[in-house]
Amino acid sequence: MKYLEEFRDPVMAQKLLAGIATTTTRKWVIMEVCGGQTHAIIKNGIDQLLPRQIELVHGPGCPVCVTPLEMIDKALAIASRPEVIFTSFGDMLRVPGSKQDLFMVKSGGGDVRMVYSPLDALKIARENPDRQVVFFGVGFETTAPLTAMTVWQAYQQKIDNFSMLVSHVLVPPAMTALLSSPENRVQAFLAAGHVCTVMGWEEYVPIAEKYKVPIVVTGFEPVDILEGIFMAVQQLEQGRAEVENQYTRVVKREGNRPAQELISKVFQTTDRKWRGIGSFPQSGFALSPEFEKYDADKRFDLGDIRVEEPPECISGLILQGLKKPHECEEFGKRCTPQSPLGATMVSSEGACAAYYNYHRR
Ligand code: SF4
Repeated sequence: MKYLEEFRDPVMAQKLLAGIATTTTRKWVIMEVCGGQTHAIIKNGIDQLLPRQIELVHGPGCPVCVTPLEMIDKALAIASRPEVIFTSFGDMLRVPGSKQDLFMVKSGGGDVRMVYSPLDALKIARENPDRQVVFFGVGFETTAPLTAMTVWQAYQQKIDNFSMLVSHVLVPPAMTALLSSPENRVQAFLAAGHVCTVMGWEEYVPIAEKYKVPIVVTGFEPVDILEGIFMAVQQLEQGRAEVENQYTRVVKREGNRPAQELISKVFQTTDRKWRGIGSFPQSGFALSPEFEKYDADKRFDLGDIRVEEPPECISGLILQGLKKPHECEEFGKRCTPQSPLGATMVSSEGACAAYYNYHRR
């Protein structure tokens, strides 16, 4: 398949590995931001093929993993209401809240449905005018255009029995927060190619300049990731800190302007809590005042739900690059993909699930 097979080419991968090996002269810590990249790295054993001086740490770019427990409990409270049809992408259904998950609500009689697009949820709302239909809008900038389009269509078509529980998060503020931490270990980033497809990469330039970190926009196939690492290592070794684009077949500097315009029409930035890590200013999207009548949080008046994370789960440290999954006491014991204690074990993009599924014990 064009644009896929050549980025899985073992000969090209070996050339890049040789380039990385001859370029590296000292220790470097590089963070891949996106959970999809983490999954590809562990699945293909890329971290084990690199020179020992290169350490890859796994970033907070898994939307399921960083959705706060309070938000999941809100989803569960809404989904339990008899008048509600609650819709979500499949990966959120198994994420445990403080007491149960959406599958348990469904087995208890709740009308919980998996959809492949928020537009499917809007169709369900159109077909069920006497029910309240709610979509769980989780994700990074990548999925924000689609959720924005759905709210925009609900507004245009005057579908008032539709609302959305919005938990969108944004990558640049999270990178800034990581770099500002006194505990930061990250010296270069592989930025998430799909996020940059939507938003472009201009917003990363001030981060690279201020914190003196190379940022390489990187794709998701093994050759993409190796090339991204090679570009980052070259910058580190040469003392450069610039934004470079490895994923040129998809990402443009300015991103997708129509998608950005739609996002800014429907959403505004807001402070957002990231599970296990903390609150970052202006790190998420919320519905703008014109569209706030579609905000499920306000429609169902859930108040302020506060819950504690399981104390044994160190996923917050993992998502900051400070620990690895197998350093968790519960990894593979009480916490497995079949019985997850934390979100990084639930999501297929989560670092703990990747380590477990590819036998990194
Ligand atoms: S193995 Fe489980 S408990 Fe440990 S950090 Fe990962 S998700 Fe949390």
